[in-house]
Amino acid sequence: MSAQNTDHSGAPAADGGITRRDFLDGVAIAIGGGASAGLLPRFVAAAVAQEPATQDAAGYYPPALTGLRGDHPGSFETAHALRDADFWPHAGAVGATGEDYDLVVVGGGISGLAAAHFYRARRPDARILILDNHDDVGGHAKRNEFALAGRLALMNGGTYLIDSPRPYSAVADGLLRTLGVDPVALSKKCADKNFYAAHGLARGVFFDRETFGADKLVVRRKDAAWRDVLAGTPLSEKARSDIVRIEEGTTDYFPGLSSAEKKARLARMSYRDFLRDVVKADPAAIAVYQARSHGEWGVGADAVSALDVWAFDFPGFQGLRLEPGSAPHMGYTAAGYADGGSYTFHFPDGNASIARLLVRNLIPESLPGASAEDVVTAKLDYARLDRPQAAVRIRLNATVVRVRHLGDPVSASDVEIVYARGSTLSSVRARACVLACYNMIIPYLCPELPNRQKEALHYGSKIPLMYTSVALRNWQAFKALGIAQVYAPGSYFTSLALNEVVDIGGYKSARSPAEPVLVHLVRVPVAPGLPEREQHRMGRRDILATDFETFERNIRDQLDRVLGPGGFVAARDITAITVNRWPHGYAYEYNPLFDPDWPLGEAPHVIGRARFGRIAIANSDAGAAAYTDSAIDQAHRAVGELF
Ligand SMILES: Cc1cc2nc3c(=O)[nH]c(=O)nc-3n(C[C@H](O)[C@H](O)[C@H](O)COP(=O)(O)OP(=O)(O)OC[C@H]3O[C@@H](n4cnc5c(N)ncnc54)[C@H](O)[C@@H]3O)c2cc1C
Repeated sequence: MSAQNTDHSGAPAADGGITRRDFLDGVAIAIGGGASAGLLPRFVAAAVAQEPATQDAAGYYPPALTGLRGDHPGSFETAHALRDADFWPHAGAVGATGEDYDLVVVGGGISGLAAAHFYRARRPDARILILDNHDDVGGHAKRNEFALAGRLALMNGGTYLIDSPRPYSAVADGLLRTLGVDPVALSKKCADKNFYAAHGLARGVFFDRETFGADKLVVRRKDAAWRDVLAGTPLSEKARSDIVRIEEGTTDYFPGLSSAEKKARLARMSYRDFLRDVVKADPAAIAVYQARSHGEWGVGADAVSALDVWAFDFPGFQGLRLEPGSAPHMGYTAAGYADGGSYTFHFPDGNASIARLLVRNLIPESLPGASAEDVVTAKLDYARLDRPQAAVRIRLNATVVRVRHLGDPVSASDVEIVYARGSTLSSVRARACVLACYNMIIPYLCPELPNRQKEALHYGSKIPLMYTSVALRNWQAFKALGIAQVYAPGSYFTSLALNEVVDIGGYKSARSPAEPVLVHLVRVPVAPGLPEREQHRMGRRDILATDFETFERNIRDQLDRVLGPGGFVAARDITAITVNRWPHGYAYEYNPLFDPDWPLGEAPHVIGRARFGRIAIANSDAGAAAYTDSAIDQAHRAVGELF
């Protein structure tokens, strides 16, 4: 998929172009066949949820857990108690482990792992501890693993692919090369991008009865005229004509304005307002475009600027004849793809492969193999991640609750890091600490930070979203309907797509419609009409309050309605479900509709990431960019600040 028409989620766009972008131990056992008409049997790993699983225990293998994953039960409660000032009043005494490190990294996502790598590059004999609140390593870069008919099947539980609006920096590209990842060569060798098209499968749009009046799936074959595609839909004639106008029209809605002037207007107008007030489209036509920006921006057409979506090839702008290149706003080029994005490559488990390669780089004995290809099938030995004699240790199920200098931050030689694990509170010491967690938790970990910095760290609101991996007995219904991906603007999950076909190392994708396959479903909880950050806060509450049964019921209902006409029966054909819930998903990127235009250097993420004594701040939040390259670049900057 090209950068222009690919979103991180693999979510298909309304026109069929693909556009981008869930806690441990809900259901702990991969559910094999035999799912009956009722809900799937649930095997709640109560032992893990109540007392953190020990990563050294025999059989500890989080990637194969199904049920509620992403921010799994057991991973966030401590942090939330800290936020609510409800942790320390109930906390027992802190036990000093006596462990002493050169560096402690808070957060085992790609940024934290990269920070450990960069630190060791400068000080090869450094002793490093990485602490993470999840049961697995990688943060958003999470691996969902299934055994389907005896074969390994992988899907990204979070970070989908190597892909950024900017070319990867020399630093980020350099790290990929050090890890043996050549995205261009891998893409050429391993990705069969035309596989489904060659099978005659196209992209579909599903009109649901609640939003549009009747359930109807339409298929949009390449180059099909929109008038023909819409013929079978429940839309009125006016709505159909308006969609044709939006997709194929050539009207210049701003005659007499220069391209720059048009862009300036579009930057301050939502896509919904553009369609409603400028294009004068029918509300039902606008509803078709409402969720199209979910995957990339985490909000709908009401809260994303028209300029940003123009740069992603959204329709309606053809007649404006805008010059290529983005109009920089907020000091950024949010409309970045128009300027040329990065190379792209999707590992079968998404960027979890990058996280795993970093783990191999840091603790070679934990993950066998030597290449970016063999890492895909290599089995991580979690019992080797936290060995006392190792130079680098990764401790899971450990939520850091306090990071403070032992003495005056200006002159202290040591930092103390306190973490909660199960029912115990422990402390370690280090010469330095990199906070590669979320910006918004940092003020709770480090109350001694200056107030201005704490306010800045609180500014952004991470974007909540859900990636769901569903295992099916086969994909014959997709074949019968002629679809590989579906955009469902009014449905619970706004997109679903068959797993990508990638053969890499010993990993082989399903190729026959009779074979079991994984399907990727995306839901972004939104509250249209509210400012973006408020939508994210509401969405976060929404997905944290939703139980697995509700997600499962919606998955079954939606797949039956979309795929039923192709012979699909959820009760028979679904064999496993992994719901990855990410209440703290994408880093917040500024929105010209709602955020001020800060002077250079004054944006909250810049103020928020300032080094504080021996504590430096990494994570993609520190770059206000929800991309892997940002996570890596920020790790590099943070480590550089410590030397
Ligand atoms: C669903 C989804 C899809 C995405 N797709 C893409 C994509 O296709 N391409 C792309 O480039 N980017 C994508 N991203 C963005 C992704 O977030 C970044 O690419 C990158 O992986 C972020 O890495 P990070 O280390 O900065 O943060 P994270 O991955 O969030 O890692 C931070 C870790 O710190 C942990 N932590 C937080 N507080 C504490 C604490 N107090 N104690 C211990 N641990 C703590 C967190 O729980 C987490 O495990 C996606 C993000 C999401 C959510």
